[in-house]
Amino acid sequence: MSDTVIRVEALCKSYDTAAGPFPVLKEVDLAIAAGEFVAVMGPSGSGKSTFMNILGCLDRASSGRYLLDGRDVATLDRDALAALRGRTIGFVFQGFNLLPRMSLEDNVALPLVYAGVERDERRRRARELLAKVGLETYAASLPNRISGGQQQRVAIARALVNRPRLILADEPTGNLDSHTSEEIMALFTALNDEGITVVLVTHEPDIAQFASRQVRFLDGRIVHDGPTVHTPATEPAPC
Ligand code: ADP
Ligand code: MG
Repeated sequence: MSDTVIRVEALCKSYDTAAGPFPVLKEVDLAIAAGEFVAVMGPSGSGKSTFMNILGCLDRASSGRYLLDGRDVATLDRDALAALRGRTIGFVFQGFNLLPRMSLEDNVALPLVYAGVERDERRRRARELLAKVGLETYAASLPNRISGGQQQRVAIARALVNRPRLILADEPTGNLDSHTSEEIMALFTALNDEGITVVLVTHEPDIAQFASRQVRFLDGRIVHDGPTVHTPATEPAPC
């Protein structure tokens, strides 16, 4: 295992469009060490999701290098990349992406089906993760029986079921009210305290305050990278 979980060097990404290649990421350099908690910020369209999809091996860079846990992903064949991704990364989406006809337990256990884990062990691990996010009593329920915040907890449980070192989350609180968002961020903080590296996208400064490092994108480039500066909650002025 590498102490640098993520390293990208001169990473570029262009999308092929009818009008020709459309550059979205421009020479991005970034290293994230094991145990960090990083908020990725920046305006809509600045390339955050494109970047996260590449980090999550859901998409490939056009040029540059991406080393995941010390391995250059471009050198891996499809199976080797899937195996590295499976044991290293848990990905959490803004829209939760739970399968509507599957119980919460089966949703959480789904990555283990792909990993070839046998049924009893899948059930045990899924229950353990649902308990971790406080939803064990809903194991047999369908996703539409629980709230959005609870659905996001289930999605986080699913992302954790392969015991990844790294959680990547693209606007995980984007569909949630501020109180529920803070609960989800407390969960990410607890996971980070256990040693899991967390990288998440948010455009809300209050949410980014939970991270210890903030990286800001603008027009496909990193324009700021530094520790979170904690702004104290504004207190009423003394009379
Ligand atoms: P963000 O997550 O910061 O809002 P995105 O990475 O989603 O930004 O998008 C960056 C830019 O790339 C936007 O201009 C968007 O329209 C464009 N884009 C995203 N995905 C595609 C795609 N599959 N094909 C073409 N253009 C895309
Ligand atoms: Mg986005």
